[in-house]
Amino acid sequence: MEKIGFIGLGNMGGGMASNLRRKQFPMMVYDINPRPVAMLVEIGAESADDVASLARASSIAITMLPGPREVAATAAALLANMAPGSLLIDMSTVDPETTDALAAAAAAKGVGFVDAPVGRLAAHAQRGESLFMVGGSPADFARAMPLLEAMGSTIHHCGGPGAGTRTKLVNNYLAIILCQLNAEALSLSQGFGLNLETTLEVLHGTTATNGQLKVNWPNKVLKGDTAPGFAIDLAHKDLSLILQAANAARVPLPVAAAAREAFSAARAQGHGGLDFSAMLDVQCRLAGVTPPRLG
Ligand code: NAD
Repeated sequence: MEKIGFIGLGNMGGGMASNLRRKQFPMMVYDINPRPVAMLVEIGAESADDVASLARASSIAITMLPGPREVAATAAALLANMAPGSLLIDMSTVDPETTDALAAAAAAKGVGFVDAPVGRLAAHAQRGESLFMVGGSPADFARAMPLLEAMGSTIHHCGGPGAGTRTKLVNNYLAIILCQLNAEALSLSQGFGLNLETTLEVLHGTTATNGQLKVNWPNKVLKGDTAPGFAIDLAHKDLSLILQAANAARVPLPVAAAAREAFSAARAQGHGGLDFSAMLDVQCRLAGVTPPRLG
């Protein structure tokens, strides 16, 4: 059986690594925060002293880190210590430039590489119901498959190395701007003095509805839960990556630019640690209306 090294045990990685452990994969884990490490050790994972020792002990290393900076630094330490013939899987949301550089660095060391960023939310990751958008050669994809199946319920092979990251940016562009659009729409409904339940019934009965409004928001901000499943800080990071990558591809995204600045304003007001659905509360405060809640 493959020996797994898992780095980054946050809202997403913690649940994903737990699902791998439950499927009996031998596992070493590393995170700069000792709390999630202790939780994984409780279910049979081994704690690594550092990235280098994790790399030496693993046939497959997985990274699930906040963004490009953490991924590039960690991957450099991994690749300096992984044996040729091993496999590196990055599941973090990063920019295409970072992913392409990782793929090239891994190839130069004789290490396989797969980018497998993750769709859906932290609650899905906990339940082993994540969606993966995978880039990699057919052989590397096949090798990663048993792990992906242990952590998720939907797996798409999007193409060669880098295709997963690029698909993820397209997906997150829509998923994140929907939060700002929903926030504006519901603040308008509040400004008009409308009933929230009735407004939602109407929206869900027309093409106006969307996954955020229908699936995520009723379980998060609309019931008063703004604890981060996916933090405003990370959504802002993704919109910045999306704009940068779109600019490089000469694709203009005016709505993404406006939405990114709305997320910038939320962070400037100290709300970066809240769930991205809390953009509703930020927008309602801006409009001088009470943030609506269900029930
Ligand atoms: P998080 O902030 O909850 O977790 C990140 C973890 O990485 C933390 O435990 C942190 O301590 C650890 N970490 C940070 N720097 C480190 C380093 N240098 N070495 C070792 N550990 C380090 O983030 P998350 O919500 O789990 O997201 C992880 C990635 O997945 C991000 O790229 C995010 O954009 C993406 N993502 C998140 C969601 C979501 O709903 N939360 C969904 C899909 C994708």
